[in-house]
Amino acid sequence: ELLPRLDPDEVRRLDRAHVFHSWSAQDLIDPPAIVSARGSRFTDHTGREYLDFASQLVNLNLGHQHPELVEAIAEAASRMTTMAPGFAAETRSQAAAMTADKAPGDLDSVFFTNGGADANEHAIRMARIHTGRHKVLAAYRSYHGGTAAAMALTGEPRRWGSEPSFTGVVHYWGPYAYRSSFHSDGEEQECERALAHLRQTVEVEGPGQVAAIVLETIVGTNGVLVPPDGYLAGVRELCDEYGIVMIADEVMAGFGRAGEWFAVDHWDVTPDLITFAKGVNSGYVPLGGVIVSGAIRETFGQRSYPGGLTYQGHPLACASAVASMRIFERDDIIGRARSLGEDVIGPGLREIAQRHPSVGDVRGLGVMWAVELVRDRETREPLVPFNATGSDAAPMGEVAAACKKSGLWPMVSGNRVHVVPPLTTSPDEVREGLAILDEALSVADAHTA
Ligand code: PLP
Repeated sequence: ELLPRLDPDEVRRLDRAHVFHSWSAQDLIDPPAIVSARGSRFTDHTGREYLDFASQLVNLNLGHQHPELVEAIAEAASRMTTMAPGFAAETRSQAAAMTADKAPGDLDSVFFTNGGADANEHAIRMARIHTGRHKVLAAYRSYHGGTAAAMALTGEPRRWGSEPSFTGVVHYWGPYAYRSSFHSDGEEQECERALAHLRQTVEVEGPGQVAAIVLETIVGTNGVLVPPDGYLAGVRELCDEYGIVMIADEVMAGFGRAGEWFAVDHWDVTPDLITFAKGVNSGYVPLGGVIVSGAIRETFGQRSYPGGLTYQGHPLACASAVASMRIFERDDIIGRARSLGEDVIGPGLREIAQRHPSVGDVRGLGVMWAVELVRDRETREPLVPFNATGSDAAPMGEVAAACKKSGLWPMVSGNRVHVVPPLTTSPDEVREGLAILDEALSVADAHTA
């Protein structure tokens, strides 16, 4: 027996003894063991079943244990499990060609990575070499990954623990009409003012010094901030004016999550580099990458690109990406994502909002939504303070606990509950989850003014 089975108690005991967990104080956590998972549901060691409204880490676009995806991975393992990146490999070639085909404009080559953080690392490296410039502008309220450069790009508290680090990153404010940094009176003004602020930032940093502007096309963990119409086109124009590389981080928003292959497709904007991971293969095998424009590819036509990874473009990971994209095409997963958002999640959340004084704002696209909770709808005071910990964060913990108790696994971030189930979740399952959320929000209402 090469893979002995353990009972869940033993799984938990060994975890506590030997697994060092991310973003956690090791002695203060008690992770449940998951004993089975299928579709949009998983079951823990106590036998409680949850509807997965988080898609794990917003990566499980095709749900748990998609039978054909699992089968394709087994088939690929039997054909060729691994092969160094220097060789042309069947599934790598296919995954790159298919990804390039889905990507906008002349983004035709793919530098594969193991996940999202390293995709952003390499995007920055490419932009710096391509432009011969050093500075990189990245947004506050962003997350770009847990490695050095990706952490430095990140514009939220997860960065604080690893500073000082990578040099040359300057942060700016992106659009967020509900909590405008620009005192705007709505989406249109927010767009104008956010663009004016970005332009001013570029100008004072020195346009000739700026290699790249990095942004999440739709800000994910920091609030599902959908950019107002015109914002991305404005960033594109600014980049063109000053020869700056536009990098769209689509690690979360890409591959159908926002109801398009890439979220930029909503606004017909073509960045110079797109980074992806998560939804490309639902994380069944780790995979990410950078999709590269013709001009940047050209920079490395005759000179060597200084970077690589032992496992990049791993044949097994690429096989799962190919199979996943084929399932997307065959089952119209993008269309399903769009209609889940437009017909079920959006209307459902707006209706819930009417019943709960704690709901300040509802926003999203595709299967990427946030419910922002407040103490007071008039003042918009958040239900918990920014970066709340301990007892300050308790109201959100209570909402999460109420969801879990009723069989819903929520994604809670700051003062928001994000609604991000697998794209394959049925409308009835989504309604079931929304009903649980609806009930759980009465816990938040109790904390309102
Ligand atoms: N970029 C965005 C927008 C993300 O949401 C994440 C992960 O949550 C990352 C980058 C980092 O990806 P990974 O954890 O695969 O390195």
